[in-house]
Amino acid sequence: MYPNLLSRFLRYCQINTRSDAKSSTIPTTKEQVEFTLLLKQELENMGLKDVHYNENNGFLTATYAGNVPHAKVIGFIAHVDTADFNSEHVKPRVHEHYTGSDISLDEDGKYVLSINEFPNLRDYIGETLITTSGDTLLGADDKAGIAEILSAIEWLQKNPHVKHGDVRIAFGPDEEIGRGADLFDVEHFNADFAYTMDSGRVGHLEFETFNASQANITIKGISVHPGTAKNRMINALKLALQLDAQLPQHDVPEKTEGYEGFYLLHNLEGTIEEAKMTYIIRDHDREKFENRKHTLQQIVTQMNRQLGDERIHIHMFDQYYNMKEVIEKDLSIVQLAVDAMHALGITPIIEPFRGGTDGSKISHLGLPTPNLFVGGENFHGRYEYITLESMEKATALIIKILELNAQ
Ligand SMILES: [Zn+2]
Repeated sequence: MYPNLLSRFLRYCQINTRSDAKSSTIPTTKEQVEFTLLLKQELENMGLKDVHYNENNGFLTATYAGNVPHAKVIGFIAHVDTADFNSEHVKPRVHEHYTGSDISLDEDGKYVLSINEFPNLRDYIGETLITTSGDTLLGADDKAGIAEILSAIEWLQKNPHVKHGDVRIAFGPDEEIGRGADLFDVEHFNADFAYTMDSGRVGHLEFETFNASQANITIKGISVHPGTAKNRMINALKLALQLDAQLPQHDVPEKTEGYEGFYLLHNLEGTIEEAKMTYIIRDHDREKFENRKHTLQQIVTQMNRQLGDERIHIHMFDQYYNMKEVIEKDLSIVQLAVDAMHALGITPIIEPFRGGTDGSKISHLGLPTPNLFVGGENFHGRYEYITLESMEKATALIIKILELNAQ
């Protein structure tokens, strides 16, 4: 149905495009630039209009012109980078007519994609399953998204009788390190609304994400020889432990789900003299989110007061906000995706996303952007997999959304 979908996907997966949180360039790695420029060439070869690579934000954008007037302009967005896991020499393995058995990913049998551990595999029996070869991730997150968007455009080009409005597409960098979309140019993109193709298994649709903040805490202690430390030593590490103990102990990722927010102590390092802590704070509810930040701030203020000194310094900054605040103003774009899924016999799976997406930022920049499935599972590691059939469903969904939008 989409003759180039599989080959395109496999080709993209083999290109290393890991992003790098330690880099301050945009994009953070030159491999992402190279891949984006390759995509630029492909968009030009496909005859798309307005093909543009923006060096300032790393986004590649293009237009596929519509064949009906007055339809809303829909954007489809995917990211070029892969997560923080080995992505050198990705060798995707294609298992046609998957039988439902365990798959030894590497030659030595060290890493097994086991049906007991990953029971969702049962849903893909008989399909064309694509896995890693054990030592890398696959990169279906988000190369599948890119391949699906381009296959949908290709299909529309070959089926000009299908009516659709203008389609805008954008491929951008550094999603996995939460930075890429900060510089997304909503005005230049000029769509009425958009979807990121960046969620997991078939049916997934997200329009609620966390509100997110990070707190960097520095604690100054006083290091004295332990033999003569009485009433003189101030152990920064102990203060760090005391601080953490005052947070609500149930509100941690490992004890929460659904709409429950949390504090995650992400990093703790130091000596008696100085300790550093990093927390991330998450909540879907904006008011609870603000309260959580306030609680942490209060603990620090209180401890400093007791210490009689500003020993604890906290720097808190917001990372992204729940896209629902923007999207619920006009839920028709969620409904459009739901209708398109129903038309294709796909059951929508709509859950509050316990994370953020590029759409969390892009929505708050002014372009409502829910997130749709690409079809893969176990993202960000060696057990990542996807099936061709799932990718076909995502491709069909893009086409159906455009079709319904033009009616
Ligand atoms: Zn992704």
